Amino acid sequence: MYGGRCVERGTKKEVLRSPQHPYTWGLLGSMPSLDGPVDVPLSPIPGSPPSLLNPPSGCRFHPRCTFTEQVGGGRCSSEQPLLELTGGRGAACHLTSDQRSRFFADIAGSAGSTGSAGSAGSAGSTGDAGRGAHNADRRD
Ligand code: SF4
Repeated sequence: MYGGRCVERGTKKEVLRSPQHPYTWGLLGSMPSLDGPVDVPLSPIPGSPPSLLNPPSGCRFHPRCTFTEQVGGGRCSSEQPLLELTGGRGAACHLTSDQRSRFFADIAGSAGSTGSAGSAGSAGSTGDAGRGAHNADRRD
């Protein structure tokens, strides 16, 4: 949930192991790891939560999202993304599923290169992987 809207849906395991929404990446990146090094700095999500009385236009996460340029056309600030589900799984984001897969792989790889990621696919490594969300190389 973000700003009163559901932004990602899936089982607990799916969301923790393979998060698909930039907000989820940010949340996981701001959590300490239980099995990684203790001296790895956390990466808080920039900005503040939105007002529910006067929420942002378009995607409510857009003022804090570091991926808006990857969508282009100002869509993030003007068009509300829909939560489209496939088999009960999905995210409300204008990034394509290919982009999300690629960006999360970059994030996980970036976290791994700093030594904070565990084995790929484990819930623990996902938490660590999200830590690099705001520093990921986002080539298109
Ligand atoms: S729709 Fe745009 S602003 Fe919202 S999470 Fe996706 S990339 Fe970020």
